Amino acid sequence: MGFQTDAIHAGQNPDPVTGAVSTPIYMTSTYAQDELGVHKGYEYGRTHNLTRQSLEKNIATLEKGKYGIAFSSGLSAENAVLGLVKAGDHLIVSNNVYGGTYRLFELIMKDYGLDFSWIDTSNPKNVENAIKENTKIVYIETPTNPMLNLTDIRAISKICKDNNLICVVDNTFMTPYFQNPLVAGADVVIHSTTKYLNGHCDVVGGMLITNDDKLHERFRYLQNAVGAIPSPFDCWLTLRATKTLAVRMKQHQENAMKIAEYLQTQSYAKKVIYPGLPSHPQYELAKKQMSGFGGMISVDFGEFETAKKIMNNIKVFTLAESLGGVESLVCHPASMTHASVPKEEREKLGLTESLVRFSVGIEDVEDLIADIEQAVKKL
Ligand SMILES: *Cc1c(COP(=O)(O)O)cnc(C)c1O
Repeated sequence: MGFQTDAIHAGQNPDPVTGAVSTPIYMTSTYAQDELGVHKGYEYGRTHNLTRQSLEKNIATLEKGKYGIAFSSGLSAENAVLGLVKAGDHLIVSNNVYGGTYRLFELIMKDYGLDFSWIDTSNPKNVENAIKENTKIVYIETPTNPMLNLTDIRAISKICKDNNLICVVDNTFMTPYFQNPLVAGADVVIHSTTKYLNGHCDVVGGMLITNDDKLHERFRYLQNAVGAIPSPFDCWLTLRATKTLAVRMKQHQENAMKIAEYLQTQSYAKKVIYPGLPSHPQYELAKKQMSGFGGMISVDFGEFETAKKIMNNIKVFTLAESLGGVESLVCHPASMTHASVPKEEREKLGLTESLVRFSVGIEDVEDLIADIEQAVKKL
């Protein structure tokens, strides 16, 4: 089936009792058993929930994966990935990941005996050179947040296969609509469904997708043992949202492209970073690896004061953390999403105090451009 057909139908069947077309929200913590040892396959809400199962099947299908495992947040999904390794193991991680990933790995899990190498994975050679005897996982984010650096998923997956490592890709920014890491050879895809998959700024959630039976078994075990499950209502909202993922992503990208092209002509925007611009250093890889460029743009305004005034004066864009919603958002990575990354590390990446990240929504693009113009006039 095509993407849009799967988005609307995969994992969903009319309710057998009433024929309800919308998957019911099974708000129950436990299930009646017919007699001792005989039940319908549903025992306890942490372990089994049909609304959650529908969502898992739905997103797994969109990612061309066999299994989906839903979590209460993107970070709890990441935490389950770390449940694949144990003290003494080594992981290679893209050096410009989501700030919360950095915090979980470097500031928390390191104390539990895990060793992390923060590498510029945009050059596969760097990954090869970082492999140690105890390396188990290569964890990449592409494009990265907020610098929008790309990593070649095929090249990294091949290195992982050759060295018996697990390749994990955070696909939050592209969504399965624009990029399918499993098809490119990755072992595990991770999503913060909080972002584009749910897309309406009203749910926090996460998902792991894999084709591997053993990894699935372990993730399922961890999901139940740790208990970081999403609520049935959150699953239902996300399931409802993926039905429009394709139409939303098309519009996010169309609007982002127009805004990026516009900003590129403005002298106050010192550097416009968007994978869909030929000026992006990895434009060729972007065209090859992704079927679109997404809705995220980062702009360096040169001076913190300029960046600050724009963020304070902008009106249709809301100043807020997070991204991927139908509503346009603007954020200051250095003090918001990436505040837990040390200043020296940030500067090395180009994540300056004057960098602003735009999550372009699906409003009328003329209004979004006019909004930037009016904010700039006040400089
Ligand atoms: C937000 C985000 C996460 C973390 O997800 P939460 O749902 O906020 O826990 C992980 N990776 C990326 C790329 C993100 O943007």
